[in-house]
Amino acid sequence: MSAGCIFCKIASGEIPATIVKRGDGMLAFKDLNPQAPAHVLVIPTTHVGTLNEAKDAVALGRLLGFARDVANDAGIGTTGYRVVLNTNPDGGQTVFHLHLHVLGGRTMHWPPG
Ligand code: AMP
Ligand code: ZN
Repeated sequence: MSAGCIFCKIASGEIPATIVKRGDGMLAFKDLNPQAPAHVLVIPTTHVGTLNEAKDAVALGRLLGFARDVANDAGIGTTGYRVVLNTNPDGGQTVFHLHLHVLGGRTMHWPPG
């Protein structure tokens, strides 16, 4: 756990979140400020700041598979969804605990903003 990290606090239960799925070392919960009808965040429960610090390729693959399972559970697997991983300021990262956004329930646009 990293002191002051909001997603570590969600993982430990110290602050509340709407949990939608629990996995081995992974957690999925609803985004507080949803950008689509379905917007879930997928995190490793141990602290990793950004994708640049994520050295465990197997764990990254498991996180991606978990995001896919979350999308299917949310009923957006067939209609479609987007998985986003913002990294550092230019990437739009605001919470420095690695997370995947799973977005769906509407048509996504390209290019992203
Ligand atoms: P990013 O900009 O990629 O770092 O995404 C951070 C996301 O975390 C944003 O979409 C926020 O709405 C979301 N967020 C911040 N605090 C919370 C919280 N306490 N519970 C759920 N989602 C949060
Ligand atoms: Zn953390």
